[in-house]
Amino acid sequence: MEFADNNKNLIINYLNSVFCLNNLSHANLIISPDSFYNQFVAKTFSEIILCKNNNLCGICKPCLMNKSETNPDLVKYPRQTIFNTLDVTDIINNSLESPLYSEFKIVIINNIDQATIQAQNKLLKILEEPPKHIIFIITANNENKILQTIISRTRKIYLKPLKKDMMQLFLDKNYNDSLNKISYVKDDLENAITLSEGWPGKALLYLTEEDLSDSINLAKTIAYSFSSSKDISSFAFAIINKKEKFNLFLKLLQSEFEKLLHKCSPNSRIGICNIIELINNCSHLYDSNININILIDNLLMGILENKYNYNLK
Ligand SMILES: [Zn+2]
Repeated sequence: MEFADNNKNLIINYLNSVFCLNNLSHANLIISPDSFYNQFVAKTFSEIILCKNNNLCGICKPCLMNKSETNPDLVKYPRQTIFNTLDVTDIINNSLESPLYSEFKIVIINNIDQATIQAQNKLLKILEEPPKHIIFIITANNENKILQTIISRTRKIYLKPLKKDMMQLFLDKNYNDSLNKISYVKDDLENAITLSEGWPGKALLYLTEEDLSDSINLAKTIAYSFSSSKDISSFAFAIINKKEKFNLFLKLLQSEFEKLLHKCSPNSRIGICNIIELINNCSHLYDSNININILIDNLLMGILENKYNYNLK
């Protein structure tokens, strides 16, 4: 993982404040609904612990090995899709050996909430008396699916949604290898951050959404250029094509009108607020299975009516 220098310290400080580097627990459980974020935090924090300078220096032996994913002191599970009893046997064997290059050996177990009860029970035996040189970093989306006995033996770390500036850091393409493969424009990034409500994995999903730009353009056209009832049917057709992404489209449309709200005249404000309320209602009605064709027609007519009544350009 390559970090831009000035951003690196911000991320390290942030993770240290979440984990307390000076007060490490031998069993840590990271919980949030965002698997990407959980795994990113688990991996990055492991690399901070293993680094000789505790700052992802990039030049010490552990850092170099982390980069090429060849550090024997950092092991990651599940080996296959779901954590199972064979993984636990592997961990037991692995934990007999001391770390080779750092003070600790780190065992990351991702998505423990998907593991079988047998595997969780077997893991419990090690967590009851973890070897002094091992640090467990376990991640989960849903703590209700983890044995209570495991939970009680771990230090729980609940990740919170990120603020906008931290989101930008996490998503900065200098940050994450997976992001380097995705090319996106600044506008898309802004929108993805707004829509994802602080969860970087969700923002990544939006960024990889092939027709995000398409949806944004459609939302912009409706907000800025839609002015005649003659256009209703063509817009309705384009929106219907969004199908299962209808709710995402509504969020984009709402965010365009919210941008307008900041630069409109006091008189037009009421019209824009009405439109935002219409979009909100549309989203609720869609969730309660109302016919989507009627919903879209009503929404477009409502938008046009308010544009006309409040002289919105
Ligand atoms: Zn280092």
